[in-house]
Amino acid sequence: MATAKKEVSFEWEPKNGWESLTKREEKKLEKYCSEYMEFLSKAKTERLAYDESVKLASQYGYVPIGDKKKLKAGDKVYVGSGGKTIMLVRIGNRPLSDGLRIIGGHTDAPRLDSKPIPIYEEGGVVLLDTNYYGGIRKYHWVSSTLAIHGVVVKQDGSKIAISIGEDLSDPIFTITDLLPHLAKKQSKEPLESAIKGEGLNVLLGSRPVAGKDGDKKKSIKKNILNILNDKYGITEEDFVSAELEVVPAGPARELGLDRSMIAGYGHDDRVCAYAGLRAALDIEEIPEYTSVVLMCDKEEIGSEGSTGMNSYFFENTIAEIMSLENSKCSNLDVRRCLSRSKMLSADVCCLHDPNYPEVSSPNGNMARINHGCVVVKYTGARGKSGASDASAEFVGEIRRIFNEADVCWQVGLLGKVDEGGGGTIAKFMARYGMDVIDCGVGLFGMHSTVEVAGKLDIYMTYKGYKAFFESK
Ligand code: MN
Ligand code: MN
Repeated sequence: MATAKKEVSFEWEPKNGWESLTKREEKKLEKYCSEYMEFLSKAKTERLAYDESVKLASQYGYVPIGDKKKLKAGDKVYVGSGGKTIMLVRIGNRPLSDGLRIIGGHTDAPRLDSKPIPIYEEGGVVLLDTNYYGGIRKYHWVSSTLAIHGVVVKQDGSKIAISIGEDLSDPIFTITDLLPHLAKKQSKEPLESAIKGEGLNVLLGSRPVAGKDGDKKKSIKKNILNILNDKYGITEEDFVSAELEVVPAGPARELGLDRSMIAGYGHDDRVCAYAGLRAALDIEEIPEYTSVVLMCDKEEIGSEGSTGMNSYFFENTIAEIMSLENSKCSNLDVRRCLSRSKMLSADVCCLHDPNYPEVSSPNGNMARINHGCVVVKYTGARGKSGASDASAEFVGEIRRIFNEADVCWQVGLLGKVDEGGGGTIAKFMARYGMDVIDCGVGLFGMHSTVEVAGKLDIYMTYKGYKAFFESK
């Protein structure tokens, strides 16, 4: 009797994760994705993402660092910066000087910011003048429904939160587009310049009303300022110290007849930042190494500013944490801790899009939807310029952790060589000499007003992050 020959293959081809997903895991996936959709729908700005994260972390026993005089294994604390960037720390069994396990994503997303003097009247309407933030394609922002979120800070320091356009009973806003009948000239302009940055003015109102206190002259702008004063107690000068962000209105939604995807604004990078947060919250046992979650601001404009990862916030906070663990901790101990750390730079990657195959890297080097968490060895542009470029050794270690934990994963690149490029916070963290690799969810329509992510990839990224935190 002949025995069946066992097939051996040395080929590797990532599989569609739905094909081998168990019923039990499918249930977990759906639960995780519905909770993420709720988060994404609320966290429309970095400030709102911060608030939601604090709420969630508090439920899991995280407390502000100021509440602790000393830190020991198992303790859970968070540190904020400017109400925008947050760092959550869970002290592990090993001393901090052995290094950290860090997952860092960002919660800012491309949008339109109000200018310091934003409200003006022209041609029978009142508009909000904006400056776009991050890499947008301007034509996405005309003819869409918009909401406004942010804060106005009065000169006495009081802060007024503004949020208009999400509730179905709220008014919404829009930026008008040119009618096709009169767009003959504009239609021939390159996509890049057809809609101008200075053309992104948001329609706020159109009804003239008499001013207050006997001022008989009717004005649309006066009416808008009256409404704002009645509702929020603010005046025109207060907009100088305001941060108002114009974003797509409405919640994240399931996408597709099979409901296998999620459409929403700001997946980049709330999808990875949330996965890092949830992974940290869901670790049951005290981890071997101290786990750190970073949900940071300003990534989309190069990580500048005091709340960006190009600041000393991270380093200063680690020094604080270490001095609470060991009051004799030296500057050298902090440097050792940083250089011995390992990090997943939790950011999104692009997917192979059958609508635009011409920009894809060939030979299976593009991430595909539903093929799992995307591991990106390098980003950058041209000859890897600006890339952090993870070492082969660290990529090997991540492969082992993901495979041992049964995480569906794949590799990805930011498109074809010489087609374009981009970067993440990875390089700012690599400065300390730690191992860092980009790793996250693949998207269709990155930086658009309707970004799309596959549920399987969203869940597997969370699963991979959790395995990283739990690794020995
Ligand atoms: Mn990003
Ligand atoms: Mn981005």
